Amino acid sequence: MTAWLMYLGEEAKRVGGGYDDNPSTHYSWDSRVPNAAHVQVGDTIVLWDGDALLGLSVIEDITTGTGTKDLSSCPTCGKADIAARKTMTPKYRCWTASCKAEFDVPAVETVPVVTYRSRYEAGWVDLRGHVPAKELRALCEEPKSQNALRRLRWDDFRTRVETGKNATPLDIVDNTRKVIAGGHSTRTVRARNGQAAFRATLFEDFGEVCAFLGPMPAAVLEAAHLYSYAANGKHHAYGGLLLRRDVHRLFDLGQIAIDPHTLTLDVAPDTRGYPDYDKLHGQPLTVPVTNAHRKWIVEHWAMHRADAILIPGQSANTPASNATTLA
Ligand SMILES: [Zn+2]
Repeated sequence: MTAWLMYLGEEAKRVGGGYDDNPSTHYSWDSRVPNAAHVQVGDTIVLWDGDALLGLSVIEDITTGTGTKDLSSCPTCGKADIAARKTMTPKYRCWTASCKAEFDVPAVETVPVVTYRSRYEAGWVDLRGHVPAKELRALCEEPKSQNALRRLRWDDFRTRVETGKNATPLDIVDNTRKVIAGGHSTRTVRARNGQAAFRATLFEDFGEVCAFLGPMPAAVLEAAHLYSYAANGKHHAYGGLLLRRDVHRLFDLGQIAIDPHTLTLDVAPDTRGYPDYDKLHGQPLTVPVTNAHRKWIVEHWAMHRADAILIPGQSANTPASNATTLA
């Protein structure tokens, strides 16, 4: 299992063409970056911003293209190891020990590059601030590396995230990898239709109501994509629910699932230790869902409750007795 620590700094944001202040969907790099060609579909991507961890996911696909890149170098020795200074003049300094030139204008060469764009929204786990930069560096195979793409010691990293303060289970990584390895597409309509339109559709369908908790201000409601978990992306028209931010996160992690037989909430034992979430266990959904929804609920259930057996004849096609169905 290969895991990469990928740096999302100002430079990466520019190269990637903007992240909508949301690093949870894609990351871009180019062939000038060491390890560029070694990153594969199914690898785990762990993002950080130089200060701390941002989150992680599993790469669903990588699109390659061609482009150009401006490379700055020292006009004296030609090496790329230069840095802009905040206040001192001349503005640039060469860090090569045998050179140490100072200059206002670097040499610039435009070179052709292969561009790589990875997509990974289905399995995204937000872990903003959970692990500080110093620990992240130490968890890399080469702790002293300065590369934007670094190999991470996955088992050690995982242990760090899954234990101690703010412990977060990462089963979703295994589950997402299984779906990808099985050749199933996790492609969603989010990119095609746009998140804003998707969210607007959900508000039309459900009003300002969290599907787990009931009426809520729109500001705390998020569009949860049930279809991210599905084996194929065809039936997406009703593939979403509105969920409050915290229960959305727990749903994505599989800590809350929806029993497809009864359409009641199933809270995992870890999370039932918290009274606010324990209260939800066994509660029905607060909104009516369609059979289309139920298909996605079955997929999510199968992914996160692998030990649970789906009873034949009680599949998504059989409406549950206590559930209402949209016309
Ligand atoms: Zn130099």
